Amino acid sequence: MNCLKCIKKCYKNIKQKFANQDSSFQLSTQNSQIRGKKTLVLDLDETLVHCEFKENKNFHYEIILDVEHRGVLYKVYLCKRPYLREFLQQMSLFYEIIIFTAGYESYCDKVLKYIDVDRHISDYFARSNCRFVNGICLKDLTILDRPLDQLIFIDNNPNAFDMQPENGLLIPSFLDSDEDKCLLKLIPFLKQMAIKSKLIPVSSFLQDYESIHGAIFSDTQITLQCQADRDECSLSEESVVILENDPKHRKTQTTQQQQKQAIKILEYRSQTLFSG
Ligand SMILES: [Mg+2]
Repeated sequence: MNCLKCIKKCYKNIKQKFANQDSSFQLSTQNSQIRGKKTLVLDLDETLVHCEFKENKNFHYEIILDVEHRGVLYKVYLCKRPYLREFLQQMSLFYEIIIFTAGYESYCDKVLKYIDVDRHISDYFARSNCRFVNGICLKDLTILDRPLDQLIFIDNNPNAFDMQPENGLLIPSFLDSDEDKCLLKLIPFLKQMAIKSKLIPVSSFLQDYESIHGAIFSDTQITLQCQADRDECSLSEESVVILENDPKHRKTQTTQQQQKQAIKILEYRSQTLFSG
């Protein structure tokens, strides 16, 4: 009798759990092409692209996209991170690729149509799927409905890893440097990870890899990254700082001298309405 009660209780709990889940947040099951592959979750802004929302003579954009959001038409000036196409193509051989961005859906949709010409990205999760706590954007990977030990999450903002730190791989922010090689340098590491039985903690695997092959990202990039992230932490989700009065958009190749200038936060930039 006790056993029957226990089974009934378990059934009730499971039923309750599924009733509370919002199925719209979950990915569809993997199709035959990607079945069994591990999952690579990628942030969008400053990880794969950089976008501006007004013209900036110092920003070397490659295209202007029209994005309609809540009845307003925005011009989005976009620059892809170097080696993005090659990165997506190579990673699609080993991983199911998912985007997880704090940008709005309308923006994400337009940007992905432009950058993913070969259609390697399976799906995306946008702003409505993020959690904002005290102005900090958190990305909960459990809503993806994929095994967490089979998943790597790359983002330029360390706050994004707060909920599942073992999955996080921090990449330096991209603005518009033609010389940025971060995606290219990540390819061999991610290929090596794809054959492992478990991918977490990612930082530990990265450490092992770098002890043999050397650091993937330079010290300067990492230092700048930490500086920028510390500044961003104190700001609300709608605002992003610029690091110079007249932004040069060369952060990923900034020298020591430029680094000194970078610590001055001179104004908030409200035009980054969609990004995050
Ligand atoms: Mg980002």
